[in-house]
Amino acid sequence: MTLMKDKKGVIMGVANDRSIAAAIARTLHQQGAELAFSHLPDTGDRKRNEERLRQITKDMNPALIYPCNVEDDSQIADFFSTVEETLGEVDFIVHSIAFAPTDDIKGATIDCSREGFLQAMSVSVYSFLNVCQHARNLMPEGGSICTMSYFGGERVMPGYNMMGLCKAALDHAVRYAAYELGQQEIRVNAVSAGPIRTLASSAVGDFKKSMQLYETVAPMRQNVSSDDVAQACTYLLSDMAKMVTGEILHVDGGFNIMGGQPLSES
Ligand code: NAD
Repeated sequence: MTLMKDKKGVIMGVANDRSIAAAIARTLHQQGAELAFSHLPDTGDRKRNEERLRQITKDMNPALIYPCNVEDDSQIADFFSTVEETLGEVDFIVHSIAFAPTDDIKGATIDCSREGFLQAMSVSVYSFLNVCQHARNLMPEGGSICTMSYFGGERVMPGYNMMGLCKAALDHAVRYAAYELGQQEIRVNAVSAGPIRTLASSAVGDFKKSMQLYETVAPMRQNVSSDDVAQACTYLLSDMAKMVTGEILHVDGGFNIMGGQPLSES
């Protein structure tokens, strides 16, 4: 499996083995890529984030495992300068990061706090722009950046609430970044995944119902797996997608095309 042979890149957003970014890492590794990872910094004596990431990636021979809280620009800069020292130029970056305070995402969107809104936008959207800034220096020969979105940024998905606003902003950030980095042959895309059980999705209200909805309404009548998302993401990061940029690629069994419930089936 050599789709990503001789390619080097960065993965941000592996929290545990259910993380979508963990599936992306496995697929990229299987396809021959060399990988550098960031993780949320550990606080206090317990090195759980780092340890967990080391465990998950132990068979991938990672080039780098390094802390980075994307709420702090200096940590992002430090991470990418360490990536440059370790890998030199890179071919791809995966941004698979989102956060919203539980109280703000559980309640009605119009009731969210200013503080919670700004934190969610900072972690889930601004960090992506900041990553794109660093890509400019790390990818002088061009490259590919991919982030993770959700349909709740395009249409109202009850329960997704304030995070829908973040994904709407993220989708458009993808388009502006694709425009601004295109002449440097850096492609920028998002995968818009159907619901998958992860740490982040456990914060979304009525998540079980959302999965049932996809099984009932999506043309393919089934939920997606993180491996399905990983393969689509790998395509976008590979040379197979050489002229694909500014896209929001839906990996959702076709759910996004539907305008109503399927008619009863005989
Ligand atoms: P996850 O919880 O495994 O991943 C979220 C990641 O964000 C974690 O690694 C966490 O450490 C990281 N993170 C949060 N705050 C951070 C900060 N301040 N600094 C650095 N990292 C931080 O869950 P996931 O479902 O794999 O989420 C990954 C991406 O996929 C998110 O953007 C999410 O919105 C998106 N997504 C998820 C689903 C789903 O149903 N699971 C569907 C569509 C899109």
